[in-house]
Amino acid sequence: MSKIILPTSFEGKTLFVAGAAGFVPSTLCQFYLDLGAKVIGVDNFITGSHSNIEILAKYKNFEFHEMNIYQKLPHLSSTKIDYIYSLASPASPIDFEQIPIEIMRVNSEGTLKLLELTREKGARFLEASTSEVYGDPEIHPQEEDYVGHVNPIGPRSCYDEAKRFAEALTMSFHRRYKVDTRIVRIFNTYGPRMRANDGRVIPNFITQALQNKDITIYGDGSQTRSFCYVTDLVQAMHTVMMSNDPTPFNIGNPDEYTIKKCAEEIIKVLASKSKLAFLPLPKDDPKKRRPSILKLQKISDFKPQVIFDDGIKITAEYFKKELLKH
Ligand code: UDP
Repeated sequence: MSKIILPTSFEGKTLFVAGAAGFVPSTLCQFYLDLGAKVIGVDNFITGSHSNIEILAKYKNFEFHEMNIYQKLPHLSSTKIDYIYSLASPASPIDFEQIPIEIMRVNSEGTLKLLELTREKGARFLEASTSEVYGDPEIHPQEEDYVGHVNPIGPRSCYDEAKRFAEALTMSFHRRYKVDTRIVRIFNTYGPRMRANDGRVIPNFITQALQNKDITIYGDGSQTRSFCYVTDLVQAMHTVMMSNDPTPFNIGNPDEYTIKKCAEEIIKVLASKSKLAFLPLPKDDPKKRRPSILKLQKISDFKPQVIFDDGIKITAEYFKKELLKH
């Protein structure tokens, strides 16, 4: 099978990015702005950061609209749009607890609006789905044809089921209206521009380590995750967008860590004096997670470039500056 050749310039192309103020989407916007594209970003700042938009606003080809995409989209009747990225969902377990209805609405009503816009514009659409569609997986590593093991009423279900719905809606638009669609399933991702207080493991562990506070391990720390540095993830997302396959692709870094090992590594890399503290494990916390990325590697030369220790150092530099601001 011949591999995808990625374009080196996006001059003359226009992208619409829902959720542009988030840490992954803002990194993605900047990637396309650097390739010469025009980018129209939308966000309601429910979890996104103004500082991420300030970085993008320095580019003359960036246009921003503050709005809630499940209520309305900007007027774009005279604008040509080539690519639409659906990246507007809050995605942290803390968000699942605090804003479950907003999560369900953005992934259902919001995704519907984006797919209708894609159809109207004759654009190409990419749904940023998640490894959470596999739930607490019974197979390891997870391959794309695994249909998952999700608790439909558990504390994570607002996100897991909403993303499963968003995938189904995307495939329905593809089958019924021949809309040009792509789906990625994003595994754990980290890097600069994450919210220090979003409750996820890497921001928690880095900020705790930087302050020599106890590192909060939930459960015994034997559960695993596989962490992808954000620029590698953006490269994978772009690769799938440029492919011609509408079925889902896992994207992430298969390098797997137990949470305890992750804590020990962060303490070592940051030369921290923090100790480990063990707290109760949240309900339905997946025990193992590692993507199989063979499907993506069959059609492309994608390979994660940033190893964990290096990614942690760069991310810690970002959090150091954030901690000084507060
Ligand atoms: N976790 C932890 N301590 C923390 C935050 C998270 O031990 O301070 C664990 C969490 O229970 C899970 C893993 O780290 O097993 C990854 O959690 P995260 O919230 O980053 O994302 P998830 O992959 O669960 O969506």
